[in-house]
Amino acid sequence: MTDKKNLRTPIVCVMGHVDHGKTTLLDKIRGTAIVRGEAGAITQHIGATEVPIDAIVDKLGDPRLRDHFIVPGLLFIDTPGHHAFTTLRSRGGALADLAIVVVDINEGFKPQTYESLQILKRFKTPFVVVANKIDRIGGWVSQKDLPFAATFKKQSYDVQAMLETKLYEVIGELYNQGFAAERYDRVTNFQKMLGVVPVSAVTGEGIPDVLMVLLGLTQKFLEANLQYSAKGPGVGTVLEVKEEKGLGATLDVILYDGTLKKGDTVVIGSLGEPIQTKVRALLKPRELSEIRYESKFQQVNKVTAAAGVKISAPGLEGALAGSPIRVATEENLDEIVAQVKSEIDEVRIDTGSVGILIKADTLGSLEALVHEFRKDEVPIRKAEVGDISHRDAIEASTVEDPLYSVLIGFNVKVHPDARDFLQESTVKVLTSDVIYRLVEDYQKYVKEQQE
Ligand code: GDP
Ligand code: MG
Repeated sequence: MTDKKNLRTPIVCVMGHVDHGKTTLLDKIRGTAIVRGEAGAITQHIGATEVPIDAIVDKLGDPRLRDHFIVPGLLFIDTPGHHAFTTLRSRGGALADLAIVVVDINEGFKPQTYESLQILKRFKTPFVVVANKIDRIGGWVSQKDLPFAATFKKQSYDVQAMLETKLYEVIGELYNQGFAAERYDRVTNFQKMLGVVPVSAVTGEGIPDVLMVLLGLTQKFLEANLQYSAKGPGVGTVLEVKEEKGLGATLDVILYDGTLKKGDTVVIGSLGEPIQTKVRALLKPRELSEIRYESKFQQVNKVTAAAGVKISAPGLEGALAGSPIRVATEENLDEIVAQVKSEIDEVRIDTGSVGILIKADTLGSLEALVHEFRKDEVPIRKAEVGDISHRDAIEASTVEDPLYSVLIGFNVKVHPDARDFLQESTVKVLTSDVIYRLVEDYQKYVKEQQE
């Protein structure tokens, strides 16, 4: 049996289209009611929640399971529906060890459902699909917090048939996206087939099943990847750069490896040279709570992966969301700075030759866009994090070929002076908060030009 102490907490990312129930699902898992405190129940920020294994076992309702599981718990990341789950990157891959894709069983697939699947496929992240809102199926009689099989048995024949019909529409969509899937209790081999769990995030039906499948995936796929040395230098990803009263610019970070201590020297990616600074304070949310709802942060001296932590330090203003943060020592500082810089440069493009210009809100979304356009062999002149500036507008206007005199913006603003300039110019501007829509819009534009 593996020593539990050597395994870090897996990071679970909750993805899916806006309003399909990500926050409610996490809320149910946590047993708190954060969604009710939200403006319009829309997630405003990225947060993380650590759910210890004991709390999960409680939900499973069988204490004998406690010794069975090898991980200390699960770290859930809630990603806002229309912003930046693409910040969830780590060097060369996905930050998330596992994911949950939430689909409203009554609405089916939507743009961000497809986008979530594309990203998971690209990074080969194991995941489970949650077919949510089964309580909205006509005639459904809710059985609070029961496992799926138990609540399913209590439904009438017609309601059961309706659920199966809707479920197999979801499974059909997954198949169209290149995933073999089945209702999770009909899956015999999770390495070959995706499990779909029918749930209600509101009534809690099916939630124990989701947790079981997640823990099962952990045991199957991740054991080897989760070994870490608690003594190793901390490595993480910046989720958000946030202004906090009395603290100035702070970073919300997911630490995915090693340990981060107060007083540590850290190197963080920025638009220019990487930032080098010393950690003034580490602010951690309590277990079963969220960073963004903690009015009083709890100061800690160190955190160990995996953890969501807020970092207060001088000079964080220019830090980039989605960029790496690494602990350095006096001896290896130069090396770490070079490493962080190369991680940023891998994503950024500035060729000065003919091609489109891409601007995105985070390093992760930029990386995803560059990947998609390269796949279509579209030349890129510049790809950079940030809003569309006057300079970008001018630069795009210098490209003579109309196919490439194009500015692509993902989740970014157009500066007023850039807007004025662009109105007078022939530059094509495409903005969206859905990656593949930008790719499609561009393809459409190219077709129009060629006709
Ligand atoms: P998110 O944007 O994906 O985070 O979605 P939310 O969790 O904010 O949910 C959007 C809306 O759907 C809210 O009004 C929720 O109360 C509702 N909702 C979420 N899950 C369920 C469910 O299982 N059943 C029902 N009836 N409503 C749900
Ligand atoms: Mg939400």
